[in-house]
Formats: sequence, C-alpha cells, structure tokens
Amino acid sequence: MPLLPEKQEDEALHRIRHSLSHVMAQAVQELHPGTVLGFGPPIEDGFYYDFLFPEPISDGDLKDIQKRMQKIIKSGQEFAQEELSIDDAVARLEGMGEPHKVEYAKELAEKRGLETLGFYTNGPFVDMCEGPHVANTKELPVTGFKLHSLAGAYWRGDEKNVMMTRIYAYAFETKEKLKEYVAAVALAQKRDHRKLGAALDLYVIDERVGKGLPLWLPKGTVIRRELEKLVAEFEFEAGYEQVSTPHITKRGLYETSGHIPLYMEGMYPPMTLHEEGKEATDGPVEEYYLRPMNCPHHHLIFGARKRSYRELPLRLAEYGTVYRYERGGALQGLTRVRGMTMNDAHLYVTHEQLLDEFKAVLDLHARYYELFGLTDYFLRLSQWDPDDPKRAGKYVDDPENWAWSEAVVEQALEESGYYYRKVKGEAAFYGPKVDYQFRTVTGREFSLSTNQLDFAVPKRFGLTYTDRDGQEKTPLCLHRAPLSTHERFVGFLIEHYGGAFPTWLSPEQVRIVPISEAQLDYAKKVQRVLRKDMVRATVDDSSNTLGKKIRLAATSKTPVVLVVGADEFENTSVTVRRYGIREQETVDLDAFVTVLRDEIRERRHVTTLD
Ligand code: ZN
Repeated sequence: MPLLPEKQEDEALHRIRHSLSHVMAQAVQELHPGTVLGFGPPIEDGFYYDFLFPEPISDGDLKDIQKRMQKIIKSGQEFAQEELSIDDAVARLEGMGEPHKVEYAKELAEKRGLETLGFYTNGPFVDMCEGPHVANTKELPVTGFKLHSLAGAYWRGDEKNVMMTRIYAYAFETKEKLKEYVAAVALAQKRDHRKLGAALDLYVIDERVGKGLPLWLPKGTVIRRELEKLVAEFEFEAGYEQVSTPHITKRGLYETSGHIPLYMEGMYPPMTLHEEGKEATDGPVEEYYLRPMNCPHHHLIFGARKRSYRELPLRLAEYGTVYRYERGGALQGLTRVRGMTMNDAHLYVTHEQLLDEFKAVLDLHARYYELFGLTDYFLRLSQWDPDDPKRAGKYVDDPENWAWSEAVVEQALEESGYYYRKVKGEAAFYGPKVDYQFRTVTGREFSLSTNQLDFAVPKRFGLTYTDRDGQEKTPLCLHRAPLSTHERFVGFLIEHYGGAFPTWLSPEQVRIVPISEAQLDYAKKVQRVLRKDMVRATVDDSSNTLGKKIRLAATSKTPVVLVVGADEFENTSVTVRRYGIREQETVDLDAFVTVLRDEIRERRHVTTLD
C-alpha cells in the first residue's frame, strides 16, 4: 500500500543552500578577481551561481573553489542584513563593479515598485539579496556540499544576453545525506531509460520521422503488448469495454470539446483539405487535426445512440494514440514525447454511481502498482482555486459543481483509506482529480497518472441517458489512465527495474545456453517446448565460451538462463540460473516448464539483485 511521507520543503536547508551560494561567490571572487556576478539561487538539490569570469575556468578549478569555501565557512563570518534605498543600492552595486546586479536593482524598482533593497554582508563579501541566511558561516556543513558541474547559461536565460558560466553544487545538512544523494544520482545515471533503452534495443528516435516520435523496436513492442494484455484482463474483470477510434478528427469536434481555442498551442497544426475537384481558393475547406486526447471520440460513442440508465456505468476503454506538440527543448527520451499511446478510458456514470465508481478506479490503480512493485508514490487531490484571478480561463466557472464534486472525490479518498494531499490550483478544466505522484530514483516528484471527475464536458457534448423516472439526464464522466502512456510508463519502468524486467514482461524470457555443440539439438528441443507455451526463449548457438555466453545473458538482463550439457541431455533436465542470483539448480525439464508457466501467468516477481 502507499505510501511515502511527503517531502518537507525544508526551511533550514533552504537557508543553508542560499548561504552557501554566497560563500561560493565570495570564494570565486577571491580566487578569480574581476569575476562579475549574475544570479545565485538555492535549487532542489543544492544551489548554483552564474559568473562572468575574466578567464574561462574548467572542472579542475572547482576543487580549489570548494576548498576556499570550506576555509571561509570555518572562519566563522557573521551574516548581517541591511536595507538600502534604491539610489544607495544602485550606487553601491556600481561601486562593486556589478552591472548585472545594477540592472536587476533598477528593474525591481521600476517593475515591482520597491523602495528599498536588501543586502547581506558576510566578512568582506556583500550581495544584494532578500535572504534568509544562517547567522554565521560556522552553521554551514563543511562536508555537506559538493560543486559538481559547470554549464553555460545566458544572463536571465535570454540568448541575446551574454553567456555566463554556471557552477552547480549539491548541498545537504550532513556529509551522509550528501553521500546518499550522490549515490542516488549515480544510480539514476546508470538506470537512465535513454541509455538502457538503447542498450536493450527497446526503441529509437529518428529525426527523419520527427522529434519526440519514438519507433518501438521488436523488444520494446513486446513490453507494450504485455502491458496491453494485462490491462485487457484487469479491465475486462472490472466491466470495461474496448473501443477503437481514429487518430484524426475534424475541427468542429475540438470546438465542442473546448480544446480549440484553449489547448491549441499543444496541438499539431491542422491538415487542410479542399473539396474534391476544386481549387484551394474555391473553399469550403475542411480542417483535420491529430488528436491530443481521446475523450471527444469516446463521448461520440456514448452519444451514438439513446442510452438508458440500465447501461450505466458505461466504461469505454482504449489504448488510444494521441499527439501533442511539446516544445522541442522539453522533449526527453520516452518521458516527454509528441506521440503517445494512452491507457485511456472514460466512464459514464450517474450521480448515485459516482462515489463507488471513483473508488473502484482508485483500487484499480493500487492493484496495478502493487503488481509492478511500485510503492514510492502518493495521491494528490487536485482542486480548483476559486481565488485565482485567472480562474475564468482555467476552470469551468461553476462554484456549485466544484463544491460537491470535490467533496465526493475527497469522500472516495477517505473511505478508501489512501494517503493523500490536497493541492489547490491543480484541478483539470472540467473538474477535480486525483493525481498519482511518483518519485524518481533521485527523489524528483512527477505525475504518472490521474483519475479525473468531469462534471462539465458531457453537457457540452449534449450527452444524455433516460433515467428510471423517464427524464433525460446528463451523465458524469471519469477520465482515468492508471498506466499513463506506453511511452511514459515504459520509460519509468525501465528505470524502476534498472532494465531487469520481471519474467512476464521481459522481451526475452529465457536464454538456453548449450555447453558444447553436442547439446545444440537438445537446446533447440527445450526452446520448442517453451515456445509452444508462448515463452519467449532463444538459443545461444554462438561459438563463444560458456563463460562469455553467461556474461552476455547477464548484460542483456535476461531473467532466466538455462545451461544444458551432457548430463542435462541425458536426464532431460536443465540447469537454471536467474538474473542477479548466484545459486543455480538443476531440475527436470517438465517441472521447470510448469514452474515458469505459473510464474509468467501469475506475473510473479522473482526477487533479483541489481
Ligand atoms: Zn479523457
């Protein structure tokens, strides 16, 4: 069951990081006189500072800067705060030779109407800053931080400005916490799905197709199919029905749904068709869009004929492919893409059915995650923000519906007993939702999937059902996608398992390794027996040594390796080695097939070591 404790936004740690960034700037200016300062904020795992060095520096210089920082920390400098009028502040910054800070001070005065600006002094170093800081550098952890990399950064992120040098540092309260974090970063790099995805032959991205549009290789496609099989079983049991719908649609549908104009910048530009046999100027013109969401198509299926209350809840499911125009800079491996296939479904329910149905969806999420051994997540109840001045463009402006719908979702969470956190301003346009917040190896939080209540869109589509009392009523809709998109979920699973998938999900489940050529026929017989049971088994018939064959199987993270030699042939047995487990055992072939078949059918995890 979930779940992890929420991560506290730690005020003390924030002070430490912020103070360390000042100390870094101080050390830099002592070691590299004439260096001009940019910004130096605390960040998620430490801090950075942007510098304009008189001479370029390299990674080798970071050590010296770090050492000088440690010296400053030990010298016990007090942090002192003062407020200066704008004129005095600008004069001081000019005197310090800090043109960027002067520019920023003037901007704060003009745009935000500030009349004074804060400064902090420690020892000989002064910086314009709001604070807060520690009282004395001695409170800073001498061994709890590490300058780890350099990067180019335009002043204020604008490429028309000068390119500065950014020094990044990790910073934590103690040496132990720093060590833990550095180890997690190393693990994350080792498990990076882009690296493993290539090494394990799962997908490629080819610019000739387009950015953010992955091509799934045979092995990656096996994983997709296994997920779809799992989903088909779970959803069938839960009373879902599958539908299939096209990837494109006419403009009008998105005007009805509200995607146009609200969501247009997230969509690919339209395909424009002209009436057959006519010139472009003759009009009328039809515009087709690649769909960014599956919902409108499913709504039309609900509305395709008259519906009775007896048919509700109606649960329409589809692994539906959608296209979203993400900015090029935001694209990343499988986790940020422009084409994705979503574990989507829309559930049409009556008001009376809503609570139970919402709870059933929460339980379905939990069941999936347990199967995958995912425990590091929590639920976020995302509400609208009635105080948001821009609420009219962001949410359906209907306080009454927001009030009861948020109450029902909260009741569902309470009655289900899942740990959750409420967050204002994160709701969908059309209703409250529960987001499933996961954590990467390094602790970064991200939304993997959602369960959303929609009280607005069915009405826009004119969807109705005939109720018990003969009245036409509008159903409510739930949008949910527990396994997210194939792209995001497989990207996440690659990192979660470090590429060592459980047997049921592994593209290659069994590799048969004959000890010598004399056992090749027997190895092929074992393969035939397994493939008859739909087990994805291969034979290593290369001329490599036994040791090398076994090492190669480990590199490809194949969960089961069967070694067959003269004894195994003689006794119709196999010697079983499992990925990450040292012990091996020799068992009767039939007995092994039975065990493996059960393991795959039940989608069991056999614990492996990384
Ligand atoms: Zn939807």
